[in-house]
Amino acid sequence: MNITRISVYQVDLPLKEGSYHWSGGKSVSVFDSTVVRIDTNDGYTGWGEVCPLGPFYLPAFGQGARAGIYEIGPHLIGAPATEIARINRRMDVALKGHPYVKSAIDMACWDILGKAAGMPVCELLGGRFGESVQLYRAISQESPEEMAAKVSGYRDEGYRRFQLKVGCHDVDLDIARIHAVAAELERGDILVADANTGWLKHEALRVCQGVRDVDVYIEQPCATYDECRAVRARWDGPFVLDENIDGLDPLLRGHAEQAMDVVNIKISKFGGLTKARQARDLCVEMGIAMTLEDSWGGDIITAAIAHLSHSTPEELRFTATDFNSYVTVSNATGAPQRENGTMKAPTEPGLGISPRTEVLGEALFEIE
Ligand code: MG
Repeated sequence: MNITRISVYQVDLPLKEGSYHWSGGKSVSVFDSTVVRIDTNDGYTGWGEVCPLGPFYLPAFGQGARAGIYEIGPHLIGAPATEIARINRRMDVALKGHPYVKSAIDMACWDILGKAAGMPVCELLGGRFGESVQLYRAISQESPEEMAAKVSGYRDEGYRRFQLKVGCHDVDLDIARIHAVAAELERGDILVADANTGWLKHEALRVCQGVRDVDVYIEQPCATYDECRAVRARWDGPFVLDENIDGLDPLLRGHAEQAMDVVNIKISKFGGLTKARQARDLCVEMGIAMTLEDSWGGDIITAAIAHLSHSTPEELRFTATDFNSYVTVSNATGAPQRENGTMKAPTEPGLGISPRTEVLGEALFEIE
């Protein structure tokens, strides 16, 4: 089961809604996704994908993913694809940091392990909990009225969990956004206001004061962990950390210091399914609920998210994301499709997807 070839493809994923806006005036209209194919000497093929949310969200960007894989790839030729801890060890020795670079390779190895074992990845990650996985819908940052107007359409698609993109320096505008969307909610809906590090501490505290009467989760208000913790200490409601939780150190520190109630585990932020699962399993034991997702992606990443989420105990699973429903291009068949606001991990062996070769086109490069 040794790796003989790593092929790298690039796919543009345009957004159905035209563009996606979040804190600090940042926006993306076409996502730059990287797809990795790994072949082994006994005929197995595995697929992975990594898709940063533009070059300015996390320390990650599309060209960086490909340059990193170009750097790591030669160290993996001949390595056993199904011995995934060893593969991760090799990647960490070959390239310090850059977890997102390693994510698609790790994902492709899980795909191979599943195919070799004849089991879907979610079973290898712990088993299938419950019928399906509940999804949230991100609401792109627009005017309060435009954001509120989106809720009923998304609810018609089955979503009951809404993540508002806030985090601008006009605090009154963000307070108005939260109130406007909250007014559209029905019993059973959940509202999260995600500032994506966009507020200074005093701004976050003003927002918290201004929405005290609203049933809302506050997510990642400020840039640093310490700022977020200071805000959390003065906020009565549930609190989510995302951007700062990028490994086990901040996760364990956050737990010890009661810095959050929910964490967002993005597969590529941790460096792949192996490390995301490690964090997921710790959260399960520590009683920390999770949003399980990635920074962005197409069908391959959506399948990986479904496997990670579906193998997480239901009560710890706060939300997950069906990124393939946000974009106009499908890069694989067999990926989960949203059904009444939920999705299910595929039942076929591995990730359960087959890439569309006509969408991938020619490989940008191959490492042999
Ligand atoms: Mg977030």
